[in-house]
Amino acid sequence: MKRTSLFFTALLAGSSLATMAQTQLRNGDPKLSEQWTPEPRIVTPGKTSTDAPADAIILFNGKDASAFRAKDGGAVKWKIEDGALVVAGGTGEIYTKDGFGDCQLHIEWRTPAEVKGDGQGRGNSGIFFMSRYELQVLDSYNNRTYSNGQAGSIYKQLPPMVNASRPPGEWQTYDVIFIAPQFYEDGSVKSQARITVFHNGVLVQNNATLAGGSQYIGLAVYEKHSSKEPIILQDHGNPTAFRNIWIRPL
Ligand code: MG
Repeated sequence: MKRTSLFFTALLAGSSLATMAQTQLRNGDPKLSEQWTPEPRIVTPGKTSTDAPADAIILFNGKDASAFRAKDGGAVKWKIEDGALVVAGGTGEIYTKDGFGDCQLHIEWRTPAEVKGDGQGRGNSGIFFMSRYELQVLDSYNNRTYSNGQAGSIYKQLPPMVNASRPPGEWQTYDVIFIAPQFYEDGSVKSQARITVFHNGVLVQNNATLAGGSQYIGLAVYEKHSSKEPIILQDHGNPTAFRNIWIRPL
């Protein structure tokens, strides 16, 4: 028998074995296809789907911003007003004290009710996963800007699938699943970062692949970093507000 026909015979034998196993399963005990272990652990959900579940790490609860620090390591200089953490323009971005890699993040944000400026100058902030990968925060309600720079975009990379923005002055939600990139020893990329984003409950990024860290000028590029890095909230000079921020490391 030639090599190729040997190969195909083996392939056929393999597939008929698989078919036999399938037939046996279908005619046999339904318990054979039940998986009982491991048992998913119980997590008590919040009263609404925006409330933190029992196993979440609370990053901001409306009163206490101590999970964040300023760039220099000091206390956050943003204002806490009516349960919201409000960007104090010019005081700088803020960092979570803890580092995070793969995670589920819930965060609520509100751009100023009084509309000032346009394009990128309107309610601009951002959430930088691992201090590098920016999920844009912007007033994108009747405010055209470049598509890969509007709310729900991965800045200068991935436009949102739709524009699910609420009007300025209203609270909006992001629910995000972020999967960290992985690197080889030599710094080359083993696997790229991925992100899924719901904006006000609407899917805007569907397991999208990131091309690298966000850049203002030029193309996104990966630079090796550790497996856990702080999340940054951006100070872009606009008094954008945040509340109810919680995270579940995955
Ligand atoms: Mg921004």
